[in-house]
Formats: sequence, C-alpha cells, structure tokens
Amino acid sequence: MNATAYAKLNLTLDILRRREDGYHDLQMVMQTISLTDTLTITPAQGEGKITSNLSFLPTDGTNLAQKAAAAFRRATGLGGEVDISIHKHIPVCAGMAGGSADAAAVLRAMNQLTAAGLSPLALAQIGQSVGSDVPYCVLGGTALAEGRGERLTPLPALPPCHIVVCKPSFPVSTPQLFSRVDVRKILRRPDTQGMLEALEQGDLSGIARRMYNVFEDVLEPWKRAEVHAIQNALLDAGALGAIMTGSGPTVFGLFEALPQAQQAARRLGEQYQDVFLAQPVSIPQGKP
Ligand code: ATP
Repeated sequence: MNATAYAKLNLTLDILRRREDGYHDLQMVMQTISLTDTLTITPAQGEGKITSNLSFLPTDGTNLAQKAAAAFRRATGLGGEVDISIHKHIPVCAGMAGGSADAAAVLRAMNQLTAAGLSPLALAQIGQSVGSDVPYCVLGGTALAEGRGERLTPLPALPPCHIVVCKPSFPVSTPQLFSRVDVRKILRRPDTQGMLEALEQGDLSGIARRMYNVFEDVLEPWKRAEVHAIQNALLDAGALGAIMTGSGPTVFGLFEALPQAQQAARRLGEQYQDVFLAQPVSIPQGKP
C-alpha cells in the first residue's frame, strides 16, 4: 500500500512559557503543504524493515515511521510487522516535521490495511506517543497547535496561494534554540489572535503580514543573516510575507500569483539546492 506524508509549515510560532517538566508551552498556527514523501507499506516476512532513498536516515526502531507502526499495533492489537520503504522529498531536520509526517502516513495506512476503522482523532491520539507533531500531521490542514503541539483546534483553511520553500544548508539544533529562548525577554511575538481573525476572513495579505516565528530572533547572528537574506529575496520577488518555519532553518514565502512564485523559486534555486514550489493542502481523511 502506498501512503503520502505531507510537510507542514508554521504560519506562526510563539513560546508562551517554560513548564515545570522542562518542556515549553507553544502556540503555533500550522499548515500542511503539497511537498510530500511517498511511503510503501507491505506486510513483512519476519521482522519489519525500513528502507529509504537517504542513507543517513535511521533504519531501526528509532525511525518515526517504524515507531508509528509499533504504536498502532500496541494500541489496537491489530496488524503484523510491516516493511516500510520511504522516498523522501521533505528535507530532513528542516522544521517541516518530515519524520512526524511519515509517522502519520503510516498510521493512516495501518488503519486501512487492518480495516481497523479508527477515526482521525483516534489515530492522532495514538500518534501522540510517537512525537508531539504527529497528531497534527495525522489531522493536517490549517490548525492551531498548543501545549507541546498536541492540543489542536482546526482553523479555516488558508486561502489558495503559492508557497516558495527554501532550505539553507546549515543545521539548526532544536534543543539549543530552546535553551537560548528566555520567555521573559521575547521582544517580538506573532499576533496569533490577529492571525486567527485574518484566517476567518480569508484575508491572505492579512495572514502573510501576521506570520512570525520567535525562533528567528535567537538564531546565531550569521544564521539569522542568511535567513533574512532569503526572506528579503522572497519579499523582493513579490511574497506577501516570508518567515522561518519551526526550528528552521527552512524559510518560506506566500505568493498570490504563480508567475512571481515561479520566478522566486528559480532565483533561489540558483543559490540553494533545496527549493520547492508548493500549495496549501488539507489531508484527505480516510486515504492513506
Ligand atoms: P520538526 O519540524 O518536527 O522539528 P524536523 O523537520 O526539524 O522536525 P525531521 O525531518 O522530522 O526534523 O527529522 C528529525 C530527526 O528525526 C532526524 O534526526 C532524523 O534522523 C530522525 N528521523 C527519524 N525518522 C525519520 C523519518 N522517517 N524521516 C525523517 N527523519 C526521521
């Protein structure tokens, strides 16, 4: 069985507080996009194996796709071991929840393969034990994610638009970024309430204007400079707004017109390897 894993972007990312348990309470508006991995899931002869087109991805029980299959079996008592082959297009460690998206795709596929008939919400609940972005990746679309990202409220869909995604080549460590954030000293935050209103009104420029990610301010200066350079290139090409997604380093811009988006993608493509043109999508529930 084939399954599709959809990347996500953060239209906003805010950190509200550090919790007693060491984690942070987040508030994020998330969006699924048409940049996807393709997975093939087949019943295994013996122990389930993971293969992928990227040699550096884990091929043991730490692969989130494998973890999801195990979590599904534990929760439902259904389905045997599976072989999972992943063709990745979603850049890894890029702030686009690629691993969580693969896990969500496996959960949807296992639901079909075993005819378990679980609701998307029940699948999302199983996904919580795999990773905090997995419940969102199961449900997809436009949503407000709170807590560690597992408390989800569906939102009106992002109006049709074109999205240029560009990943610079430097790595970003998520734990290091969190350790640099002092929640009392965050000077600039996204206007999340304004974002919800703009979504309600289907106001694409209002949405783009309100996009913001507090992690941008705690990047090391040279990384911040490169992120800003990509943002400026997107804005110069006509993007209505451009920010970094998740813990980065990927930057994206929202465009109303396809030709401008295509031109921006072409220009950035001369400098960067990972440049994609995508559109917002909602995940067709019931399809793996
Ligand atoms: P997030 O946006 O949720 O923080 P990310 O996009 O920054 O995630 P991922 O691409 O999900 O990061 O990868 C994070 C880590 O998970 C990497 O170290 C990677 O090796 C590991 N990983 C495990 N399984 C997968 C998978 N199926 N696809 C990608 N990465 C995986």
